[in-house]
Amino acid sequence: EDQVEPDPSKKTLVILGTGWGSVSLLKRLDTENYNVVVISPRNYFLFTPLLPSCTTGTIEHRSIMEPIRTILRSKRARVKFYEAEASSIDPDRKVVRIFDNSEIRGDITETEVPYDMLVVGVGAENATFGIPGVRENSCFLKEIGDAQRIRKRIMDCVETAAFKDQSPEEVDRLMHMVVVGGGPTGVEFAGELQDFFQEDIKKLVPDIADRFKVTLIEALPNVLPMFSKQLIEYTEKSFKEEKIDIRTKTVVKRVTDKAVEAEAVAADGTKETVVFPYGLLVWATGNAVRPVVRDLMARIPAQANSRRGLAVNEYLVVQGTHDIWAVGDCAVAGYAPTAQVAGQEGTFLARLFNNMAKTEMLEDKMAQLSASLNVEPGNPAAVSREIEEHDRQLRRIKDVKPFHYSHQGSLAYIGSDKAVADVTWFNGNVAAAGSLTYLFWRSAYISMCFSTRNRLLVINDWLKSKVFGRDLSRE
Ligand code: FAD
Ligand code: NAD
Repeated sequence: EDQVEPDPSKKTLVILGTGWGSVSLLKRLDTENYNVVVISPRNYFLFTPLLPSCTTGTIEHRSIMEPIRTILRSKRARVKFYEAEASSIDPDRKVVRIFDNSEIRGDITETEVPYDMLVVGVGAENATFGIPGVRENSCFLKEIGDAQRIRKRIMDCVETAAFKDQSPEEVDRLMHMVVVGGGPTGVEFAGELQDFFQEDIKKLVPDIADRFKVTLIEALPNVLPMFSKQLIEYTEKSFKEEKIDIRTKTVVKRVTDKAVEAEAVAADGTKETVVFPYGLLVWATGNAVRPVVRDLMARIPAQANSRRGLAVNEYLVVQGTHDIWAVGDCAVAGYAPTAQVAGQEGTFLARLFNNMAKTEMLEDKMAQLSASLNVEPGNPAAVSREIEEHDRQLRRIKDVKPFHYSHQGSLAYIGSDKAVADVTWFNGNVAAAGSLTYLFWRSAYISMCFSTRNRLLVINDWLKSKVFGRDLSRE
């Protein structure tokens, strides 16, 4: 049980990433069947749906992190974990090149890990479309570090705006929070920001309070394109009441350290350039392919026409390979890049791998039995019966159906204790919005949290910020 060295009789299964896809796979994988190796620069799982709440301190960041070491400890057989980034994958030699990208490094910082089977679950990086100034000047909202940076920066803007003799224009700029991208990340963040302001900043820093402003910029004609029309309207109406300025049909073209330059299409179809001076800029325009994935795609001829990630078949096998699988945001399987999809894909792979191991075991057993039938006299009828039984089991196991995604619905928090939900219920679609939906949102996310520990911490954070207000100290 406590074996540390890889068992030569078992295949080596290497899993890249500790996000939604990889961790869902690990959760259900029978680790006794393989030598399992997990590689990720992040030694924890992150519950991303509550990340926007960390930017204002409604939830403390550690409440939505679960250490991978804790997750792996509960597995039946020992799993190796290396905190490292995969820099390249060689499908011919079947090795992954990894390097230690953390602050503290030992003598060895780079090496290779061989695999028999590989699962790529490295997620995606932030899209910037090469727009000048974005990387240098904006905050993203994907990782814990991003949320912490935003939280610090909001308070820095507020305290700098309150600085003695600050000019009114400068106060307006510093108190202007600009969000680019009207997908769920941008919308949820804008909602959280407005809550923070209404519930806390306004009371604690009253002198500059009326200058606080949130602007949400979106290139398309409306926000939340994946939601139904009535929920889009509800969100836009609700934002208007909360005084969040939504600028649709506005495409950001350039960013400097103090202003965002965009091209807006007016009602009559004319284009104009609009400049938004800002104190905080959060960039949430969706996903781009990670370099390690792009590199792998370039090595596989069958991936030549794929743009948004690794094209996979209905068993999540990377097209053009037979021993590499991909899950989540780095895989193109025909679904949206969401936690829901990544989670179901991971669960599917666990079932597939557990099955494959069982199949192999039964096939070996059958070969042994057949051989014994030929050499030993024994009881041929009993052996044949056993073979038949194994054969029946084998047929049952081999019948793994292709991956099928079951959509449970879309859910987003929009601020002021309101949420929007498009849910499938008894085969019908239900669109709901408002405060009751918010309670539903809360309970759904609580039940989805990784562990009981996470659940208790999140509930505690919610209560704490309700009773005492959010903590305005800037770490
Ligand atoms: P991730 O969860 O991003 O995990 C990728 C993993 O790979 C990480 O552990 C990372 O450290 C690791 N990694 C990165 N590079 C390498 C490398 N080179 N080598 C090895 N490992 C690497 N979806 C929903 O369905 N509902 C929601 O409410 C929701 N809310 C969201 C809120 C926010 C703020 C964000 C950003 C996303 C949200 N999503 C939501 C989307 C969801 O988080 C993603 O679709 C999901 O995380 C994808 O899972 P994944 O496993 O592919 O990638
Ligand atoms: P997204 O891709 O959903 O939205 C990005 C938005 O940015 C798009 O509407 C796009 O038109 C806009 N945009 C792009 N370039 C622009 C520019 N130059 N100027 C102005 N606007 C521009 O991205 P996201 O919100 O980060 O979400 C990523 C994924 O994660 C999605 O699949 C989403 O469903 C999922 N997610 C889900 C939830 C939830 O269910 N509550 C929350 C967050 C994220």
